Amino acid sequence: MRAVDIIAKKRDGLELAAEEIGFFVRGFTSGQIPDYQVSAWAMAVLLRGMSTQETIDLTMAMVRSGVTLDLSPVAPLVVDKHSSGGVGDKTTLAVLPMVSAAGLPVVKMSGRGLGFSGGTLDKLEAIPGFNVSLSVEQLLANARQVGIALAGQTPELAPADGKLYALRDVTATVPSLPLIASSIMSKKIAGGAGALVLDVKVGRGAFMETLEEARALAQMMMRIGEGVGRRVTAVLSDMSQPLGKAVGNSLEVIEAVETLARSALVRAPTDFLEHCLVIGAEMLLLGGLAGSPEEARTRLLKTIAEGSALDKFRTWVRAQGGDVRAVDDLSLLPHAPVVERVPAPRSGYVASIDAREVGLTSVDLGAGRERKGEPIDPAVGIVLGPKVGERVVTGEALLTIHARDGASAAAARERLLAAYTWSEEPVSPPPLVYEIMRGA
Ligand code: URA
Repeated sequence: MRAVDIIAKKRDGLELAAEEIGFFVRGFTSGQIPDYQVSAWAMAVLLRGMSTQETIDLTMAMVRSGVTLDLSPVAPLVVDKHSSGGVGDKTTLAVLPMVSAAGLPVVKMSGRGLGFSGGTLDKLEAIPGFNVSLSVEQLLANARQVGIALAGQTPELAPADGKLYALRDVTATVPSLPLIASSIMSKKIAGGAGALVLDVKVGRGAFMETLEEARALAQMMMRIGEGVGRRVTAVLSDMSQPLGKAVGNSLEVIEAVETLARSALVRAPTDFLEHCLVIGAEMLLLGGLAGSPEEARTRLLKTIAEGSALDKFRTWVRAQGGDVRAVDDLSLLPHAPVVERVPAPRSGYVASIDAREVGLTSVDLGAGRERKGEPIDPAVGIVLGPKVGERVVTGEALLTIHARDGASAAAARERLLAAYTWSEEPVSPPPLVYEIMRGA
């Protein structure tokens, strides 16, 4: 077999055989197939697409490029969750303690923020001392002892994906459905989960801006999962405006802790709590801990009402070296020196808040990064006030900026005000969840 023939075959729109895909993936993982041929192949895939079988074969070839975790010592069935990424998406921070407290052990590998999209590892590291660099042994031991463990992706899992992603990033070949689907699923399958809830975000602050694209990605990932014996549920959820109120690492930890605290139930449920209940309920259903979404929801709400979810969060933080005092005294988390309240420039209904613009502004403030490896500032970010559909009067608080200095706060203020549109007439907020796709 020759790499050039495989590239030509894909260029001409033909279907690659499993052996050809396996040969190509082994070749580029070992360095025998050079980057320029991998780049040409990725472009051919982007332009010509892949069949379901090719996408499954690519996923499994990437899984076989490294090790696969055996999570059976943790539980007979471990249910994972994955978000396709967004702005203010701190779901993992709240939902893992909830489902774990409800009896479902969780082991998860997460990523860092890049561009407008935040990352769970960065958020957790805002807690002083929190260590996300666990070895596989520590990860499994924590999951067994505490029922919850989370770490960064280890290089031994699906290394072919890491290599291919780095090339896609610089050859304009990231937005290919089969490449995105196989990239995500190879890491999840290698991570050992028996079942998976995919939170596929839709809108300006997501990879997939339309419902059709998100549905197509979800369907492809479900087919891959089911093709290799994993049960997969996909939740298509809104990311046209940020999720919840906080965008920025320390600020998102605060929102997650406040959601787990009993007081969250006293106030009207927020969009963030509601989203956590939807994702958590699907996890419990896949894990066989509830017979219906309603039963699952009741169990999850009980973990908040009884305080067991917050207790689990404390145990998790302690187990991973974090300063657990910060959970009960949020002032111990990093705080920005400049906090500026931005008043509403007019009265009216909030018609839209461009999630991507809010995400990019948080990057400008220092909460995220433009390039992989850049440091971030855990303290800075944005806390939104009224969200889409709510009415505001001129001068009332619209949002708060947490910045390192006055100049970055002023720049953020301009950009954020431009991210809002307004209406004189009442506006319906976008649905939180567009669709739940449950596998067979
Ligand atoms: N996330 C991934 O892990 N891979 C992609 O290709 C896109 C998003």
